[in-house]
Amino acid sequence: MKVLKFGGSSLGTPERIRGVKEIIKGQSLPCIVVVSAFEGVTDSLLRIAELASRGNSDYKAELDKLIDIHRNFAKALLSDPDDLNNASDHIEVISNELGEIFRGFFLLRESTKHALDQVLAVGERISSLIISLFLDDSILKDSRELIKTEGKPGNSVVDFKATNQLIKAAFEKTNKLTVLPGFIASNHNGDTTTLGRGGSDYTAAIVAAALKAEVLEIWKDVDGFMTADPRKVEKAYTIENLSYSEAMELSHFGAKVIYTPTLRPVFRENIPVLVKNTFNPEGKGTLINNK
Ligand code: ASP
Repeated sequence: MKVLKFGGSSLGTPERIRGVKEIIKGQSLPCIVVVSAFEGVTDSLLRIAELASRGNSDYKAELDKLIDIHRNFAKALLSDPDDLNNASDHIEVISNELGEIFRGFFLLRESTKHALDQVLAVGERISSLIISLFLDDSILKDSRELIKTEGKPGNSVVDFKATNQLIKAAFEKTNKLTVLPGFIASNHNGDTTTLGRGGSDYTAAIVAAALKAEVLEIWKDVDGFMTADPRKVEKAYTIENLSYSEAMELSHFGAKVIYTPTLRPVFRENIPVLVKNTFNPEGKGTLINNK
């Protein structure tokens, strides 16, 4: 069993998602695929929430634009009319849900952390649905039924005991290609929660650790951990191997490659992490393990 995680930049256009499909097709082990929201969507949701809670009615047009982007992704990727109808119905339901929450923000001139979690979760809810319909023979599971959090909204932590049990039970009897939305979880009351910005990496690590996966692959838009930021330093090159503690230290001090809490669960289970580039799948990437 292998867990692959694709971030927003790997899912920025329908064309890129076709590339992701090829990467998945090339795998020999059964795979769980964790996906982020499409590129820029979480930022847009935050911006729209801000507009609404400042009483700016432009939020409606911005929301329509964001929903249209998702409709267009669905149209571009789903050739089967049943799949397209399925996606369109879900997008419609989610769009109405969002419309109501944003109207609440607009009327009250404020947003709550709890409601914001519900808003931000929408990006991954829609992207995972469209991608699972697009991938052949795959099933979709809702991470909110697998990952349980405790604590206050906006500041919640994973309840690993409950989460590990739920994940093991969900995958006990299936080897089917499964798509999971990253970033989203729920508390013990069943309310939607999130794992922090960039949290889809963490989702993938939690799942990989619970299932003792052979490897966790994190697919990004860079060749792995590099000696410097390649946008600033021309001669930056990829570091092929890092220990968990080196990678954790680098993340902690600002290397933007992996969301900081990600490595803890996989380190505990000694699961190797391979950071790869969707735009350069042949590249070696960075392998993080106990060596
Ligand atoms: N979509 C979320 C974010 O942009 C989570 C993620 O992409 O990892 O922060």
